[in-house]
Amino acid sequence: MSGIQLYDTTLRDGCQSEDVAFTLEDKLRIAERLDDFGVHYIEGGWPGSNPRDAGFFEAVRRLSLRRARVAAFGATRRHGTTCDADQNIRMLLQAQTPVVTVVGRTWDLPVEQDLRIPLPANVDLIADSIAYLRARVDEVVFDAEHFFDGYRSAPAYALACLRAAADAGATVICLCDTRGGSTPEWVAQATAAAHAAVATPLGIHCHNDADLAVANTLAAVHAGAVQVQGTINGLGERCGNANLCSVIATLQLKLGYECVSPAALAGLQTLAHFVDELANREPDKRQPYVGLSAFAHKGGLHVAAVQRNREIYEHVDPAVVGNHQRVLLSDLSGRSNIAYKAREFGIDLESQDAAVRALLEELKDLECRGYQFEGAEASFELLMQRALHGYTRRFRLIGFRVIDEKRVETEPSISEATIMLEGPDRQIEHTAATGNGPVQALDRALRKALTKFFPEIDEVSLLDFKVRVLGSEGGTGAVVRVLIESGDVHDRWGTVGVSHNLVEASWQALVDSLDFKLYKDAKRAGAIGVPATPAATASTSGTTSEASARAAGAPARVARRAGEA
Ligand SMILES: [Zn+2]
Repeated sequence: MSGIQLYDTTLRDGCQSEDVAFTLEDKLRIAERLDDFGVHYIEGGWPGSNPRDAGFFEAVRRLSLRRARVAAFGATRRHGTTCDADQNIRMLLQAQTPVVTVVGRTWDLPVEQDLRIPLPANVDLIADSIAYLRARVDEVVFDAEHFFDGYRSAPAYALACLRAAADAGATVICLCDTRGGSTPEWVAQATAAAHAAVATPLGIHCHNDADLAVANTLAAVHAGAVQVQGTINGLGERCGNANLCSVIATLQLKLGYECVSPAALAGLQTLAHFVDELANREPDKRQPYVGLSAFAHKGGLHVAAVQRNREIYEHVDPAVVGNHQRVLLSDLSGRSNIAYKAREFGIDLESQDAAVRALLEELKDLECRGYQFEGAEASFELLMQRALHGYTRRFRLIGFRVIDEKRVETEPSISEATIMLEGPDRQIEHTAATGNGPVQALDRALRKALTKFFPEIDEVSLLDFKVRVLGSEGGTGAVVRVLIESGDVHDRWGTVGVSHNLVEASWQALVDSLDFKLYKDAKRAGAIGVPATPAATASTSGTTSEASARAAGAPARVARRAGEA
């Protein structure tokens, strides 16, 4: 197997994403993780562009990375000055990295219209800058900006720029699809021409504006590129860069290249989610290889088939990239979904056929009414336990009342909820609470009442609250579905409620959430006679440690969102 160099630019190009801003601390943590994962080059930023990037290069020297080499990024010298006098080149050297990457123009159009210098003068900038840096730094990568557009417009000139970089001593020449609009055939042709023109090892740097960045990267590798540049999760300017997660997995699992060790590859999903966490982005469910839906099966026939042989509907074994197979619940489900889910929960449905059929009927009926259990597996587990094991809730609602009041037009309205419920010892608890919206008031009143009987309720945080209005049928008015995600230090879990009335729907989801907390704690303590399960919750939502880390920071935000509803 031949090797491919991984050059990660999450910390430089990835930071150009519209919605991403890493702190210095984030950047250092990501650099450490990339090094652990086995990335060969980490581009840390553009020294001189901002103080955070300059601070990064100083701090990263103290990290003692094991294998990754850090690269500083910058432009060739300015026209009309010398390298010695050029501020940008000076900042590049001050970063004291073993690798420097300099970007230069290779397309005649921007040379003439943007730089506004004669074409030969641009070739001099490239040659000068690279020779100057190469005398002072171990490795110098030439980023051939707009190479694929340049090769289309004026092929001889584009190749002359590459030759200038090669002759000046560039250690790698990286061909950039800067506008991200090239296609794989073109990238392959132009890369082959570059390969024939220079002996210097080639790299590839693609943007995703035509949704082809990964395909273009692979096409360049086929045509001889040995270094792939990209970002974790495809973060980057406009539509992003080539997604290294997909590039690495495909090169390694399908094309026979070696990028990282198999053990490291099994950490791909964790790495992807880690970077999303720090970027404060919800991981994309549909992200190939690492997304939560990448190996999720919904159709009943598919479920039956993957249980016989997962290869029928899975292109790779999810475990090799650290992912896992999931079976989803839906109205498409035949009996096999239920049975699969039940096994996950340690419940043997095979021996209770009548109950299985009854449960399936109930599930289908609920889904017709707008319930959806994909994000609400805790509600589903309670449903199964009630249907099959006679599980009952340990408290009983007697009633609630919610009042919304607005006293002055210019002031926000306030909500007050009162609740009456009966605890396990038949004691009646009657509490009231206020909130900035009816749902928050209800949540507070419910917790206040329950904490008297079950102090552990205090450990539960509301992490997310989503309301979806479902289309109305037959003029009966729209139905709303509320999905609540809750968590404690161990787990996170989703619950659902559906009604014409938002408060009622929220109430159902809230009650299920707190009921589930009591249920799972009892199960953990062995007080509920169900075999230990791979937590119902963990299967829906990432790893527990990351989930609880997120849980710690989230309640305030969620409380506000709940109130807004
Ligand atoms: Zn770029």
